[in-house]
Amino acid sequence: MSGEGFLPYCRHLIEDDDIAAVTAVMKGDTLTTGPAVAAFEAALAKTVGARHAVVCSSGTSALHLAALALDLGPGDCALVPAQTFAATANCARFVGAEVVLTDVDPDNGLMRPADLEAAIAAHPGKRFKSVHPVHLNGQSADMPGLAAVARAHGLKIIEDCCHALGSIAADGAVIGDCRHGDLSVFSFHPAKTIAMGEGGAITTNDPELDARLRLFRSHGITRDDRVFVDAEHGFDAQGVPNPWYYEMQDLGFNYRACDIQCALGLSQLSKLPRFGEIRNRLVKAYRAALAPLAPQVVPITLSGGEAVWHLSVALIDYQACGTSRAEVMNALRARGIGTQVNYIPIHWLPYYRALLGEITLPGAEEYYRRCLSLPLSAAMTEADVARVVTGLREVLGL
Ligand SMILES: *Cc1c(COP(=O)(O)O)cnc(C)c1O
Repeated sequence: MSGEGFLPYCRHLIEDDDIAAVTAVMKGDTLTTGPAVAAFEAALAKTVGARHAVVCSSGTSALHLAALALDLGPGDCALVPAQTFAATANCARFVGAEVVLTDVDPDNGLMRPADLEAAIAAHPGKRFKSVHPVHLNGQSADMPGLAAVARAHGLKIIEDCCHALGSIAADGAVIGDCRHGDLSVFSFHPAKTIAMGEGGAITTNDPELDARLRLFRSHGITRDDRVFVDAEHGFDAQGVPNPWYYEMQDLGFNYRACDIQCALGLSQLSKLPRFGEIRNRLVKAYRAALAPLAPQVVPITLSGGEAVWHLSVALIDYQACGTSRAEVMNALRARGIGTQVNYIPIHWLPYYRALLGEITLPGAEEYYRRCLSLPLSAAMTEADVARVVTGLREVLGL
């Protein structure tokens, strides 16, 4: 994508072998749940080091399934960082649970153990059931610290890993291995590190949660005769399972991902090492090129572990440069450079403002005020990075 074409802030990279993998499924016998689903699940579980992976139709449906599997519901309360994509919080609302937002570190957008403690302490009398840490931009939240607080308060942990496929935390845990949490959620939307059109997954080490996720993914229906509860309809007089019988045991959804999507996901997953290497090389190039722009421009750096960067975020003091973020984004766009703000704090989204009232979370707000996602994708080159930084220097007058 080098040259002077438009440079979006994120983009998938689909290659000929990805297309061939999809075409092969389309020429075969199974378009929906077939061998590619199981193959992708096995490959993903292996990649992140979890026992089980359940693939589904999106990161959002994965979050919903996770909330269902943990039996989150009315009267329960979920703790969610204010600096994330709306879906992280929405999954609690899908099942009728309340959301309490925690603040985050203003310099990296991550929920800290102290933020979690403070949010719990500020809401006495709430029935807290789960915490939903987000591994923002490819960084890793402090899971040992957060898990200690979660344990002390009897909380289940759903990690939102949508930004962090392939990242490794400071303690050596692979994001998604569920060493500290119950369920880990991924998205394979084209904005993310690998693409399957729309798609998501949940990883876990708990076979019961795995079974519940699979049940809710497909209408709450099971065909596993070992778990049938209705013996009269499920079995004949000799105790043999009836050939037509399936059992709807709970209210589920159609959140399946099909073989076409999973063939793409599997092909893309095989490229994760290369995509990660490219992304990290570009982030390193950004860091070197942006260094002279300090302190007005400060790229986010890692406090530990090894990221596969999903977003290349710089924190910018627009006021000190005599400009505004809107002016900077518009001027960059005029130069063919796309940028984005990830994210507007959850408590400022009108839906949540109506629900939660006027609240202030200074860390999330300060992160939001400064952050700008610069173009990053496996389809980019160092020349593209140089072009972005040159554009940014001009626009900021630095
Ligand atoms: C993308 C994303 C989601 C939702 O994933 P979809 O596949 O788009 O539904 C959830 N949380 C975070 C942090 C994300 O970036």
